[in-house]
Amino acid sequence: MTSALIGNYARYDIEFERGEGVRLWDAEGNEYLDFLSGIAVCNTGHCHPQVVAAVQEQAARLLHVSNLFYTAPMVRLAERLAERSLGGGGKVFFANSGAEANEAALKLARKRRRGGRFVVLHGGFHGRTFGALSATPQETKQAPFAPLVPGFDAVLPEAAPDAIGPETAGVVIELVQGETGVHPLPVELVHAIRAACDEHGALLIVDEVQTGMGRTGTLFASERYGIRPDLMTLAKGLGGGLPIGALVAAPEYADVFAPGDHGSTFAGNPLVTAAANAALDVIDDPAFLEAVRERGTLLTEGVRELPGVSDVRGAGLMVAAELSVDAPELVKRALTEQRLVLNATGPRTLRFLPPLVVSEAEITDALGRLQALLA
Ligand SMILES: *Cc1c(COP(=O)(O)O)cnc(C)c1O
Repeated sequence: MTSALIGNYARYDIEFERGEGVRLWDAEGNEYLDFLSGIAVCNTGHCHPQVVAAVQEQAARLLHVSNLFYTAPMVRLAERLAERSLGGGGKVFFANSGAEANEAALKLARKRRRGGRFVVLHGGFHGRTFGALSATPQETKQAPFAPLVPGFDAVLPEAAPDAIGPETAGVVIELVQGETGVHPLPVELVHAIRAACDEHGALLIVDEVQTGMGRTGTLFASERYGIRPDLMTLAKGLGGGLPIGALVAAPEYADVFAPGDHGSTFAGNPLVTAAANAALDVIDDPAFLEAVRERGTLLTEGVRELPGVSDVRGAGLMVAAELSVDAPELVKRALTEQRLVLNATGPRTLRFLPPLVVSEAEITDALGRLQALLA
């Protein structure tokens, strides 16, 4: 389609032009059913009217002033996130992406325990910048960019509690490992990690970039697990489709950063925070979140019935299936033959991340299209 873009993505030869709810239209006018949500970003669906109205209104009023000043949408979002997470009373740092939110968390934890080490989990994914990549122990992603940031120890999830010691600045975990195939960590393991962090004074850093903002059927996945992280990072679904990330620090760690320790020119600008406030209005509603859990069950049970599906995992509307056929090939056929947008996280692993506004009828429709391909 163009030779002007650096080839770091394996893009499909489709140009999208318009979106509404769970539907997308390409430049030729073909209609698609979207079960990817721009990789867990469009949780409120494409162009949700409340998000669009907030963006239009804010765009005409004020776009950017820098972090030398306050704006009302930024203040409001910070207060809401602080109140709704980590038991309340924490503080927020805004970033522009998931990787940047994680960088902020790593720097905060390192500043608090100078020279400290990080325990990170195999199967975890935390982003592509050097710090976040150092927390992402995958040979193919890390090797070309060595040397990485020193001080990261990668362990299997079950070995994490024993790997935490007095030298540990922080442990970085996803409660449901998303990019490597939707693997929920066992509840007892997460509680054991929490206890080991408490014992050694290490920070539990929970990366909710993918699991947060209602994706698993609660506003944050830590609620499902019944734990309180020390630091939580958000991005993806936070901005209703606009790029924004955030670090929330529990009250005890909220004042580790002093002026000059960290920063970002764009982060938390009034446009993206206005969009995020509108998305939060939609998502943080008990009836909405209950519907996410119900739809999640419907999708999971439906996927389990499909031919050639051996294992189904997930939480809420974050679901993956193991197939007996090639998953990337199926994704390509779903796009071209059934106009269904899906994603493969591995050679046999299919991932479903529909907008959280998906209806029962749309789930039945998507399952029907997959059935036609797999039959
Ligand atoms: C996507 C993702 C990231 C990286 O977010 P970017 O916005 O691409 O930097 C980090 N952590 C998790 C769990 C993710 O799913």
